Amino acid sequence: MKEISIIDAKNHVDEKVKIGVWLTNKRSSGKIAFLQLRDGTAFFQGIVVKSNVSEEVFQLAKNVKQESSLYVIGTIHEDKRSPFGYEIEIEDLEVVGESGDYPITPKEHGTDFLMDHRHLWLRSKRQFATLKVRNEIIRATYEFFAKEGFIKIDSPILTGSAPEGTTELFHTEYFEKDAYLSQSGQLYAEAGAMAFGKVFTFGPTFRAEKSKTRRHLIEFWMVEPEMAFTHQEQSLEVQEKYVAYLVQSVLDHCDYELDILGRDKEILKRYTQLPYPRISYDDAVELLNESGKFNVTWGEDFGSPEETYLAEHFSKPVFVMNYPKAIKPFYMKPHPTRDDVVICADLLAPEGYGEIIGGSERATDTDYLTAEIEKAGLNVDDYQWYIDLRRYGSVPHSGFGLGLERAVTWITGESHIREAIPFPRLLNRIYP
Ligand code: ATP
Ligand code: MG
Ligand code: MG
Ligand code: MG
Repeated sequence: MKEISIIDAKNHVDEKVKIGVWLTNKRSSGKIAFLQLRDGTAFFQGIVVKSNVSEEVFQLAKNVKQESSLYVIGTIHEDKRSPFGYEIEIEDLEVVGESGDYPITPKEHGTDFLMDHRHLWLRSKRQFATLKVRNEIIRATYEFFAKEGFIKIDSPILTGSAPEGTTELFHTEYFEKDAYLSQSGQLYAEAGAMAFGKVFTFGPTFRAEKSKTRRHLIEFWMVEPEMAFTHQEQSLEVQEKYVAYLVQSVLDHCDYELDILGRDKEILKRYTQLPYPRISYDDAVELLNESGKFNVTWGEDFGSPEETYLAEHFSKPVFVMNYPKAIKPFYMKPHPTRDDVVICADLLAPEGYGEIIGGSERATDTDYLTAEIEKAGLNVDDYQWYIDLRRYGSVPHSGFGLGLERAVTWITGESHIREAIPFPRLLNRIYP
Protein backbone atom coordinates (compact mmCIF):
# COMPACT_ATOMS: atom_id res chain seq x y z
CA MET A 1 0.00 0.00 0.00
CA LYS A 2 1.25 3.42 -0.94
CA GLU A 3 1.92 6.18 1.60
CA ILE A 4 0.86 9.49 0.02
CA SER A 5 0.29 13.16 0.85
CA ILE A 6 -3.19 14.68 0.83
CA ILE A 7 -2.20 17.04 -1.96
CA ASP A 8 -1.60 13.98 -4.20
CA ALA A 9 -5.00 12.42 -3.48
CA LYS A 10 -6.24 13.30 -6.98
CA ASN A 11 -3.71 10.90 -8.45
CA HIS A 12 -4.94 8.00 -6.34
CA VAL A 13 -8.70 7.95 -6.80
CA ASP A 14 -10.20 4.54 -5.92
CA GLU A 15 -6.85 3.38 -4.59
CA LYS A 16 -6.15 2.19 -1.10
CA VAL A 17 -3.54 4.44 0.52
CA LYS A 18 -1.97 5.34 3.85
CA ILE A 19 -1.58 8.95 5.01
CA GLY A 20 0.07 10.45 8.08
CA VAL A 21 -2.25 13.20 9.37
CA TRP A 22 -3.37 15.29 12.29
CA LEU A 23 -7.00 15.55 13.29
CA THR A 24 -8.22 19.15 13.14
CA ASN A 25 -11.88 18.61 13.96
CA LYS A 26 -14.47 15.87 14.02
CA ARG A 27 -18.15 15.16 14.30
CA SER A 28 -20.00 11.91 14.38
CA SER A 29 -23.42 10.38 14.45
CA GLY A 30 -24.26 6.88 15.53
CA LYS A 31 -23.39 5.51 12.11
CA ILE A 32 -20.70 7.70 10.62
CA ALA A 33 -17.76 9.79 11.80
CA PHE A 34 -16.40 12.74 9.83
CA LEU A 35 -12.75 13.48 10.56
CA GLN A 36 -11.19 16.73 9.33
CA LEU A 37 -7.57 15.96 8.54
CA ARG A 38 -4.44 17.82 7.59
CA ASP A 39 -0.94 16.67 6.76
CA GLY A 40 0.85 19.95 5.99
CA THR A 41 0.16 19.73 2.26
CA ALA A 42 -3.62 20.24 2.40
CA PHE A 43 -6.78 19.73 4.42
CA PHE A 44 -9.46 17.16 3.65
CA GLN A 45 -12.08 14.96 5.16
CA GLY A 46 -11.96 11.35 6.22
CA ILE A 47 -15.15 9.41 6.73
CA VAL A 48 -15.55 6.34 8.86
CA VAL A 49 -18.69 4.31 8.25
CA LYS A 50 -19.58 2.17 11.25
CA SER A 51 -20.92 -0.71 9.21
CA ASN A 52 -17.73 -0.94 7.13
CA VAL A 53 -15.11 -0.99 9.90
CA SER A 54 -14.44 -2.89 13.10
CA GLU A 55 -16.12 -1.61 16.26
CA GLU A 56 -12.66 -0.80 17.61
CA VAL A 57 -11.81 1.47 14.66
CA PHE A 58 -15.19 3.22 14.84
CA GLN A 59 -14.83 3.89 18.59
CA LEU A 60 -11.29 5.19 18.00
CA ALA A 61 -12.58 7.55 15.29
CA LYS A 62 -15.34 8.81 17.59
CA ASN A 63 -13.07 9.38 20.58
CA VAL A 64 -9.73 10.47 19.19
CA LYS A 65 -8.87 14.00 20.31
CA GLN A 66 -8.24 17.08 18.22
CA GLU A 67 -4.59 17.37 17.00
CA SER A 68 -3.78 13.74 17.66
CA SER A 69 -1.48 12.42 14.95
CA LEU A 70 -2.70 9.39 13.07
CA TYR A 71 -2.10 7.06 10.21
CA VAL A 72 -5.28 6.64 8.23
CA ILE A 73 -5.68 3.81 5.76
CA GLY A 74 -8.48 3.86 3.25
CA THR A 75 -9.70 4.56 -0.25
CA ILE A 76 -9.64 7.97 -1.96
CA HIS A 77 -12.93 9.15 -3.44
CA GLU A 78 -13.85 12.19 -5.40
CA ASP A 79 -15.98 14.53 -3.32
CA LYS A 80 -17.42 17.32 -5.41
CA ARG A 81 -19.04 19.09 -2.45
CA SER A 82 -15.84 19.73 -0.53
CA PRO A 83 -13.52 22.58 -1.46
CA PHE A 84 -10.64 20.14 -1.74
CA GLY A 85 -12.51 17.83 -4.13
CA TYR A 86 -11.43 14.50 -2.57
CA GLU A 87 -11.88 12.60 0.65
CA ILE A 88 -10.74 9.33 2.15
CA GLU A 89 -13.03 6.57 3.30
CA ILE A 90 -11.13 5.19 6.24
CA GLU A 91 -10.86 1.46 6.91
CA ASP A 92 -8.21 1.52 9.56
CA LEU A 93 -6.77 4.06 11.97
CA GLU A 94 -3.58 4.08 13.98
CA VAL A 95 -2.88 6.70 16.62
CA VAL A 96 0.75 7.84 16.38
CA GLY A 97 0.73 10.52 19.08
CA GLU A 98 -2.25 11.22 21.31
CA SER A 99 -3.07 14.86 21.91
CA GLY A 100 -3.90 16.47 25.23
CA ASP A 101 -6.78 18.96 25.38
CA TYR A 102 -5.78 21.20 22.49
CA PRO A 103 -6.01 24.87 23.49
CA ILE A 104 -7.18 26.14 20.11
CA THR A 105 -10.67 24.82 19.64
CA PRO A 106 -12.95 25.48 16.67
CA LYS A 107 -14.68 28.24 18.66
CA GLU A 108 -13.55 31.88 18.49
CA HIS A 109 -10.43 32.99 20.35
CA GLY A 110 -9.02 36.46 20.95
CA THR A 111 -5.90 37.60 19.11
CA ASP A 112 -3.73 37.71 22.24
CA PHE A 113 -4.61 34.16 23.10
CA LEU A 114 -3.85 33.04 19.58
CA MET A 115 -0.56 34.95 19.49
CA ASP A 116 0.45 33.32 22.80
CA HIS A 117 -0.16 30.01 21.04
CA ARG A 118 1.40 30.97 17.73
CA HIS A 119 3.45 27.75 17.72
CA LEU A 120 0.16 25.83 17.56
CA TRP A 121 -1.88 28.44 15.70
CA LEU A 122 0.43 27.88 12.72
CA ARG A 123 -1.42 24.61 12.18
CA SER A 124 -4.66 26.40 11.34
CA LYS A 125 -6.00 26.65 7.83
CA ARG A 126 -5.67 30.37 7.21
CA GLN A 127 -2.20 30.51 8.69
CA PHE A 128 -1.22 27.54 6.55
CA ALA A 129 -2.49 29.28 3.41
CA THR A 130 -0.82 32.62 4.15
CA LEU A 131 2.53 31.06 4.95
CA LYS A 132 2.37 28.86 1.86
CA VAL A 133 1.91 32.04 -0.18
CA ARG A 134 4.90 33.54 1.64
CA ASN A 135 6.91 30.50 0.62
CA GLU A 136 5.81 30.91 -2.99
CA ILE A 137 6.80 34.57 -2.97
CA ILE A 138 10.25 33.63 -1.68
CA ARG A 139 10.58 30.89 -4.31
CA ALA A 140 9.46 33.24 -7.08
CA THR A 141 11.88 35.92 -5.85
CA TYR A 142 14.88 33.63 -6.28
CA GLU A 143 13.55 32.48 -9.63
CA PHE A 144 12.91 35.99 -10.93
CA PHE A 145 16.29 37.40 -10.00
CA ALA A 146 18.13 34.34 -11.30
CA LYS A 147 16.31 34.70 -14.64
CA GLU A 148 17.17 38.40 -14.74
CA GLY A 149 20.86 37.70 -14.19
CA PHE A 150 21.17 38.80 -10.55
CA ILE A 151 23.20 36.97 -7.98
CA LYS A 152 22.29 36.86 -4.32
CA ILE A 153 24.86 38.25 -1.97
CA ASP A 154 24.36 38.22 1.77
CA SER A 155 24.70 41.35 3.83
CA PRO A 156 25.70 41.22 7.50
CA ILE A 157 23.11 41.29 10.27
CA LEU A 158 25.54 42.83 12.75
CA THR A 159 26.83 46.17 11.58
CA GLY A 160 29.16 48.76 13.02
CA SER A 161 27.67 51.70 11.15
CA ALA A 162 24.07 52.72 11.32
CA PRO A 163 22.27 53.58 8.09
CA GLU A 164 19.19 55.82 7.97
CA GLY A 165 19.11 57.72 11.21
CA THR A 166 19.35 56.17 14.62
CA THR A 167 15.92 56.20 16.24
CA GLU A 168 14.80 52.71 15.25
CA LEU A 169 18.09 50.92 15.83
CA PHE A 170 18.68 47.90 17.99
CA HIS A 171 21.93 48.31 19.80
CA THR A 172 24.09 45.48 21.04
CA GLU A 173 27.63 44.87 22.21
CA TYR A 174 30.30 43.56 19.92
CA PHE A 175 33.07 42.63 22.34
CA GLU A 176 34.44 46.05 23.33
CA LYS A 177 32.62 47.87 20.53
CA ASP A 178 29.08 48.91 19.69
CA ALA A 179 27.08 47.10 17.07
CA TYR A 180 23.60 47.38 15.62
CA LEU A 181 21.20 44.93 14.10
CA SER A 182 20.80 45.57 10.40
CA GLN A 183 17.97 47.87 9.31
CA SER A 184 18.72 47.29 5.66
CA GLY A 185 21.32 45.47 3.60
CA GLN A 186 21.40 48.19 0.98
CA LEU A 187 24.80 49.76 1.53
CA TYR A 188 26.39 46.32 1.31
CA ALA A 189 24.29 45.51 -1.75
CA GLU A 190 25.77 48.63 -3.39
CA ALA A 191 29.26 47.25 -2.79
CA GLY A 192 28.04 43.96 -4.25
CA ALA A 193 26.69 45.69 -7.37
CA MET A 194 30.13 47.19 -8.01
CA ALA A 195 31.60 43.68 -7.79
CA PHE A 196 28.91 41.63 -9.54
CA GLY A 197 26.81 44.09 -11.55
CA LYS A 198 23.34 42.98 -10.52
CA VAL A 199 22.78 41.62 -7.03
CA PHE A 200 20.13 41.25 -4.41
CA THR A 201 20.30 40.73 -0.70
CA PHE A 202 17.51 39.01 1.14
CA GLY A 203 17.62 38.77 4.86
CA PRO A 204 16.04 39.77 8.14
CA THR A 205 16.07 43.42 9.13
CA PHE A 206 15.29 44.96 12.49
CA ARG A 207 13.61 48.19 13.40
CA ALA A 208 12.55 49.32 16.84
CA GLU A 209 9.25 50.68 15.52
CA LYS A 210 7.62 52.30 18.53
CA SER A 211 4.15 52.52 17.09
CA LYS A 212 1.63 49.74 16.73
CA THR A 213 0.33 49.53 13.19
CA ARG A 214 -1.01 46.77 10.98
CA ARG A 215 1.95 47.21 8.65
CA HIS A 216 5.00 47.32 10.88
CA LEU A 217 6.94 44.43 12.33
CA ILE A 218 10.02 44.77 14.51
CA GLU A 219 11.77 42.01 12.58
CA PHE A 220 10.97 41.68 8.91
CA TRP A 221 12.56 40.34 5.74
CA MET A 222 13.61 42.57 2.94
CA VAL A 223 14.52 41.85 -0.68
CA GLU A 224 17.04 44.47 -1.81
CA PRO A 225 18.19 44.41 -5.42
CA GLU A 226 20.94 46.76 -6.52
CA MET A 227 22.02 47.35 -10.12
CA ALA A 228 25.14 48.95 -11.58
CA PHE A 229 24.93 51.01 -14.79
CA THR A 230 21.26 51.57 -14.01
CA HIS A 231 19.25 54.75 -13.75
CA GLN A 232 16.00 55.07 -11.84
CA GLU A 233 13.88 54.58 -14.97
CA GLN A 234 15.31 51.09 -15.60
CA SER A 235 15.01 50.27 -11.92
CA LEU A 236 11.28 51.12 -11.96
CA GLU A 237 10.85 48.69 -14.85
CA VAL A 238 12.54 45.92 -12.87
CA GLN A 239 10.39 46.74 -9.85
CA GLU A 240 7.07 46.46 -11.61
CA LYS A 241 8.15 43.38 -13.52
CA TYR A 242 9.20 41.76 -10.23
CA VAL A 243 5.99 42.62 -8.39
CA ALA A 244 3.82 41.42 -11.29
CA TYR A 245 5.91 38.22 -11.35
CA LEU A 246 5.23 37.62 -7.66
CA VAL A 247 1.48 38.07 -8.12
CA GLN A 248 1.44 35.82 -11.21
CA SER A 249 3.46 33.12 -9.44
CA VAL A 250 1.00 33.10 -6.56
CA LEU A 251 -1.90 32.88 -9.03
CA ASP A 252 -0.15 30.01 -10.82
CA HIS A 253 0.93 27.99 -7.80
CA CYS A 254 -1.35 28.89 -4.89
CA ASP A 255 -4.85 28.45 -6.23
CA TYR A 256 -5.86 26.25 -3.29
CA GLU A 257 -4.39 28.67 -0.76
CA LEU A 258 -6.09 31.70 -2.36
CA ASP A 259 -9.40 29.84 -2.13
CA ILE A 260 -8.85 29.16 1.56
CA LEU A 261 -8.09 32.86 2.04
CA GLY A 262 -11.09 33.93 -0.02
CA ARG A 263 -8.81 36.20 -2.06
CA ASP A 264 -10.38 37.63 -5.22
CA LYS A 265 -8.25 36.31 -8.09
CA GLU A 266 -9.66 38.79 -10.61
CA ILE A 267 -8.28 41.63 -8.51
CA LEU A 268 -4.90 39.90 -8.36
CA LYS A 269 -4.92 39.45 -12.15
CA ARG A 270 -5.29 43.19 -12.53
CA TYR A 271 -2.05 43.63 -10.60
CA THR A 272 -0.16 41.58 -13.18
CA GLN A 273 -0.93 44.11 -15.90
CA LEU A 274 1.93 46.49 -16.59
CA PRO A 275 2.93 49.24 -16.54
CA TYR A 276 1.97 50.55 -13.13
CA PRO A 277 0.90 54.19 -13.06
CA ARG A 278 3.40 56.82 -11.93
CA ILE A 279 2.79 60.13 -10.24
CA SER A 280 5.20 62.68 -8.83
CA TYR A 281 5.16 63.53 -5.14
CA ASP A 282 4.15 67.08 -6.13
CA ASP A 283 1.12 65.82 -8.07
CA ALA A 284 0.27 63.36 -5.32
CA VAL A 285 0.04 66.21 -2.80
CA GLU A 286 -2.24 68.06 -5.18
CA LEU A 287 -4.41 65.01 -5.81
CA LEU A 288 -4.80 64.41 -2.09
CA ASN A 289 -5.71 67.99 -1.32
CA GLU A 290 -8.12 68.25 -4.28
CA SER A 291 -10.02 65.25 -2.92
CA GLY A 292 -11.10 67.44 -0.01
CA LYS A 293 -10.21 64.62 2.38
CA PHE A 294 -6.66 65.68 3.17
CA ASN A 295 -4.70 68.74 4.05
CA VAL A 296 -1.13 67.83 3.18
CA THR A 297 1.64 70.39 3.25
CA TRP A 298 4.38 69.96 0.67
CA GLY A 299 7.34 68.35 2.43
CA GLU A 300 5.42 66.00 4.72
CA ASP A 301 5.74 62.24 4.40
CA PHE A 302 2.51 60.40 3.62
CA GLY A 303 0.87 58.29 6.26
CA SER A 304 -1.30 55.27 5.82
CA PRO A 305 -4.53 57.15 4.87
CA GLU A 306 -2.74 59.16 2.17
CA GLU A 307 -1.02 56.08 0.75
CA THR A 308 -4.31 54.20 0.76
CA TYR A 309 -6.09 56.99 -1.07
CA LEU A 310 -3.42 57.30 -3.76
CA ALA A 311 -3.26 53.61 -4.65
CA GLU A 312 -7.06 53.28 -4.53
CA HIS A 313 -7.30 56.19 -6.92
CA PHE A 314 -5.48 54.12 -9.55
CA SER A 315 -6.81 50.65 -8.47
CA LYS A 316 -3.32 49.37 -9.13
CA PRO A 317 0.05 49.66 -7.44
CA VAL A 318 1.29 53.19 -8.08
CA PHE A 319 4.78 54.68 -8.06
CA VAL A 320 5.04 57.98 -6.23
CA MET A 321 8.21 59.60 -7.48
CA ASN A 322 10.70 62.22 -6.33
CA TYR A 323 9.91 62.85 -2.68
CA PRO A 324 11.29 65.82 -0.79
CA LYS A 325 14.93 65.34 0.04
CA ALA A 326 14.36 66.25 3.68
CA ILE A 327 12.28 63.12 4.39
CA LYS A 328 14.50 60.64 2.58
CA PRO A 329 17.82 59.04 3.55
CA PHE A 330 21.24 60.50 2.71
CA TYR A 331 22.18 58.14 -0.11
CA MET A 332 19.54 59.13 -2.66
CA LYS A 333 20.63 60.93 -5.81
CA PRO A 334 19.70 64.60 -5.90
CA HIS A 335 17.43 65.74 -8.72
CA PRO A 336 19.44 67.31 -11.58
CA THR A 337 17.41 70.54 -11.73
CA ARG A 338 15.77 70.81 -8.30
CA ASP A 339 17.54 70.78 -4.98
CA ASP A 340 14.43 70.05 -2.90
CA VAL A 341 13.67 66.54 -4.22
CA VAL A 342 15.59 63.30 -4.79
CA ILE A 343 15.36 60.67 -7.51
CA CYS A 344 13.36 58.03 -5.77
CA ALA A 345 10.03 56.25 -5.78
CA ASP A 346 7.81 54.36 -3.38
CA LEU A 347 5.50 51.72 -4.77
CA LEU A 348 2.15 51.88 -2.99
CA ALA A 349 -0.19 48.90 -3.05
CA PRO A 350 -3.95 49.29 -3.35
CA GLU A 351 -6.59 48.05 -0.90
CA GLY A 352 -4.96 49.88 1.98
CA TYR A 353 -1.65 48.01 2.06
CA GLY A 354 0.56 51.05 1.53
CA GLU A 355 4.25 51.16 0.73
CA ILE A 356 5.64 47.81 -0.35
CA ILE A 357 8.77 49.13 -2.07
CA GLY A 358 11.06 52.05 -1.42
CA GLY A 359 13.79 52.69 -3.96
CA SER A 360 16.05 55.27 -5.54
CA GLU A 361 18.96 56.08 -7.75
CA ARG A 362 22.03 56.43 -5.53
CA ALA A 363 24.13 59.54 -5.07
CA THR A 364 27.57 59.19 -6.65
CA ASP A 365 29.28 62.50 -5.85
CA THR A 366 31.70 61.99 -2.95
CA ASP A 367 31.50 65.58 -1.66
CA TYR A 368 27.71 65.52 -1.77
CA LEU A 369 27.58 62.19 0.08
CA THR A 370 30.05 63.30 2.72
CA ALA A 371 28.02 66.44 3.38
CA GLU A 372 24.73 64.50 3.54
CA ILE A 373 26.17 61.92 5.94
CA GLU A 374 27.28 64.74 8.22
CA LYS A 375 23.91 66.46 7.93
CA ALA A 376 22.21 63.21 8.94
CA GLY A 377 24.25 63.28 12.14
CA LEU A 378 26.22 60.16 11.21
CA ASN A 379 29.92 59.59 11.65
CA VAL A 380 31.64 60.11 8.29
CA ASP A 381 34.54 57.87 9.31
CA ASP A 382 32.16 54.91 9.55
CA TYR A 383 31.11 55.49 5.95
CA GLN A 384 34.49 55.79 4.25
CA TRP A 385 34.10 52.27 2.87
CA TYR A 386 30.76 53.30 1.37
CA ILE A 387 32.17 56.47 -0.16
CA ASP A 388 35.03 54.36 -1.55
CA LEU A 389 32.48 52.76 -3.87
CA ARG A 390 32.37 56.16 -5.62
CA ARG A 391 36.13 56.68 -5.54
CA TYR A 392 37.00 53.62 -7.59
CA GLY A 393 35.06 53.42 -10.83
CA SER A 394 31.73 54.93 -9.84
CA VAL A 395 28.71 54.21 -12.05
CA PRO A 396 25.09 55.31 -12.04
CA HIS A 397 23.35 52.74 -9.90
CA SER A 398 19.91 52.18 -8.49
CA GLY A 399 18.12 49.78 -6.25
CA PHE A 400 15.13 49.19 -4.08
CA GLY A 401 13.84 47.34 -1.05
CA LEU A 402 10.68 45.26 -0.99
CA GLY A 403 9.30 44.29 2.40
CA LEU A 404 8.51 40.60 2.11
CA GLU A 405 5.75 40.62 4.72
CA ARG A 406 4.15 43.72 3.18
CA ALA A 407 3.97 41.89 -0.14
CA VAL A 408 2.61 38.74 1.51
CA THR A 409 -0.05 40.68 3.45
CA TRP A 410 -1.16 42.49 0.32
CA ILE A 411 -1.23 39.47 -2.00
CA THR A 412 -3.03 37.27 0.52
CA GLY A 413 -5.42 40.05 1.51
CA GLU A 414 -4.65 39.55 5.21
CA SER A 415 -5.64 42.40 7.47
CA HIS A 416 -2.54 42.40 9.68
CA ILE A 417 1.14 41.94 8.87
CA ARG A 418 1.62 39.62 11.86
CA GLU A 419 0.01 36.87 9.75
CA ALA A 420 2.69 37.14 7.08
CA ILE A 421 5.58 35.75 9.15
CA PRO A 422 5.63 32.55 11.19
CA PHE A 423 6.73 34.12 14.49
CA PRO A 424 6.06 37.86 14.41
CA ARG A 425 8.10 40.19 16.60
CA LEU A 426 5.84 43.04 17.62
CA LEU A 427 6.13 46.03 19.93
CA ASN A 428 4.89 44.05 22.92
CA ARG A 429 5.65 40.52 21.80
CA ILE A 430 8.81 38.47 21.57
CA TYR A 431 7.29 35.15 22.68
CA PRO A 432 6.92 32.44 21.47
P1 ATP B 1 7.01 52.96 6.18
O1 ATP B 1 6.90 54.29 5.54
O2 ATP B 1 5.86 52.04 5.88
O3 ATP B 1 7.36 52.99 7.63
P2 ATP B 1 9.72 52.93 5.35
O4 ATP B 1 9.67 53.99 4.32
O5 ATP B 1 10.18 53.27 6.71
O6 ATP B 1 8.27 52.21 5.47
P3 ATP B 1 11.91 51.67 3.97
O7 ATP B 1 13.03 52.08 4.84
O8 ATP B 1 11.71 52.38 2.68
O9 ATP B 1 10.56 51.68 4.82
O10 ATP B 1 12.03 50.08 3.76
C1 ATP B 1 11.76 49.42 2.53
C2 ATP B 1 10.56 48.53 2.63
O11 ATP B 1 10.58 47.70 3.78
C3 ATP B 1 9.25 49.28 2.77
O12 ATP B 1 8.80 49.72 1.51
C4 ATP B 1 8.35 48.24 3.36
O13 ATP B 1 7.88 47.36 2.36
C5 ATP B 1 9.27 47.46 4.26
N1 ATP B 1 9.17 47.86 5.66
C6 ATP B 1 9.67 48.98 6.23
N2 ATP B 1 9.46 48.99 7.55
C7 ATP B 1 8.82 47.84 7.84
C8 ATP B 1 8.35 47.24 9.04
N3 ATP B 1 8.53 47.83 10.22
N4 ATP B 1 7.74 46.04 8.98
C9 ATP B 1 7.58 45.42 7.80
N5 ATP B 1 8.01 45.91 6.63
C10 ATP B 1 8.63 47.11 6.64
MG1 MG C 1 9.16 53.48 8.46
MG1 MG D 1 7.86 55.21 3.90
MG1 MG E 1 10.38 53.91 2.33
